[in-house]
Amino acid sequence: LEAKEEFSHKTLAMDVMRPRRSDPPLSVLTQDGMTVGDVESLITETAYSGFPVVVSHESQRLVGFVLRRDLIISIDNARQRQDGIVSTSRIFFTEYTPPQPPSSPPSLKLRGIMDLSPFTVTDLTAMDIVVDIFRKLGLRQCLITHNGRLLGIITKKDILKHVAQIANRDPDSILFN
Ligand code: ADP
Repeated sequence: LEAKEEFSHKTLAMDVMRPRRSDPPLSVLTQDGMTVGDVESLITETAYSGFPVVVSHESQRLVGFVLRRDLIISIDNARQRQDGIVSTSRIFFTEYTPPQPPSSPPSLKLRGIMDLSPFTVTDLTAMDIVVDIFRKLGLRQCLITHNGRLLGIITKKDILKHVAQIANRDPDSILFN
């Protein structure tokens, strides 16, 4: 293969990331648009280890990343200890929370459990580089963006599957040496 041709066949982050084209969209949280009930539903309906936080569904601009277990612990704690936290309480991942109308229940501030700088690469990043980054930085997951918009996620397990696939295709792959 010529170098150029080889390059055009290279697997890119967009080929490995989830969701696949046929999958339901990425499960995300919005930084200020959700209630405790919304987030609890998302937690019951999905099994993902974490959720990207975005400015809004329209912008898909990444704000951070929250682990499922931290969400569960924080909401449980708030429901038990914090007066007035109910299903309709609004959740904020923002730095400042707008004053709520007096009739609404107190809101829950969860910025503290958010990773403010999750690792990201663009959709056109070659997978051999992504694999290298996972190894060198010991990442659990990496988010995929295009022009600043969040597109998808690659987890450590996705990487392991991808590496195993390459090894199947090419048993002498240098990845295992
Ligand atoms: P693991 O890959 O270790 O099983 P997860 O349970 O978090 O970790 O992810 C399961 C699959 O779902 C992976 O292929 C991953 O890319 C994808 N995934 C992870 N988080 C999300 C999410 N928030 N929305 C959609 N898909 C996700």
